Amino acid sequence: MAYARFLTLIGFATLTAAASAQAQDKVLNIYSARHYQGDELMYETFTKTTGIQINRVDSDDAGIVARLRAEGSASPADVIMLVDAARMASADALGLFKPIKSAKLDAVIPANLRATPTAEGVSWTGFSTRARVIVYDPLRVKAADVANYEQLSDPKLKGQVCTRSGSHPYNLSLFATVVERLGDAKGEAWLKGLVDNMARAPKGGDTDQIKAVASGECGVALTNSYYVARLIKSDKPEDRKTMEKVRVVFPNQGTSGTHVNIGGAAVAKHAKHPENAVLFMEYLASPFAQDYFANGNHEFPAAKGVKIENAALKAMGGDKFKAENIPLGVVAKNLTKVQQMLDRVGYK
Ligand code: FE
Repeated sequence: MAYARFLTLIGFATLTAAASAQAQDKVLNIYSARHYQGDELMYETFTKTTGIQINRVDSDDAGIVARLRAEGSASPADVIMLVDAARMASADALGLFKPIKSAKLDAVIPANLRATPTAEGVSWTGFSTRARVIVYDPLRVKAADVANYEQLSDPKLKGQVCTRSGSHPYNLSLFATVVERLGDAKGEAWLKGLVDNMARAPKGGDTDQIKAVASGECGVALTNSYYVARLIKSDKPEDRKTMEKVRVVFPNQGTSGTHVNIGGAAVAKHAKHPENAVLFMEYLASPFAQDYFANGNHEFPAAKGVKIENAALKAMGGDKFKAENIPLGVVAKNLTKVQQMLDRVGYK
């Protein structure tokens, strides 16, 4: 493994030598909503191989967007890192990104994990994926009744369903792809069915939903896969107990595949070092960076052909599931429509 990484580094250094001949300032300013310890080595390695110093502003997604809007064209941001296609789409709609053209990214990152291309290029790119999975209480719910997202609106599950807020980006993205698949009328009916089946009003984060299933408050819930992996990896006895009480399903295996979303990055609209920014984006797609970017948060790599070892993801079946291949660009297209549907059906 170490040897493979070494080779990757050499390859990257050779490539970047050419790029640095036309060097701008050897600086890259990143605004990041990621805060994982393992990321440090990923940044350091970029600096070591390119000589480009990284300055990082860490904030949450909303904080980054607010800061970019306040700074306007004076913003020093070169690269913006956010999670979830819904957040990417919202920031893009605010004009915060600069579309880029990179043959390397085109070749390595599947098109369905990026923004819809325009004549100017592609405005955001996914570098890791996470699955939106179903967790259920096997004492209250049959596996056969929760094999698909569509079943969550079946009256069979009345009083059993729990989710976080419907307008949280993780749900907006999932709902946007469900509506894309089912069409508007059926999609809205599905959302209404979800509301009718709720065990309680939406609240909390994804981990809270898993715990609410374990405690018996809910029969079935939705969560991103890395929250399950964190509980599997946890050495707290209460987390182990939680995971003993719930089962995990990768939905829609017989049909459209499980909804996957992204952790991603974009070049900032007013980037002062746009070439360095593209170089960094290409670096994120390298096998070395993919390992840190994905593994650091128990996610899956986005780049084609890259495999990572993650015992927790393997334990939950994450090494072999069928992922939905609807382009995440449809999240941008359906975002407003889905929000209006949520208002109409009373999904809090
Ligand atoms: Fe999260």
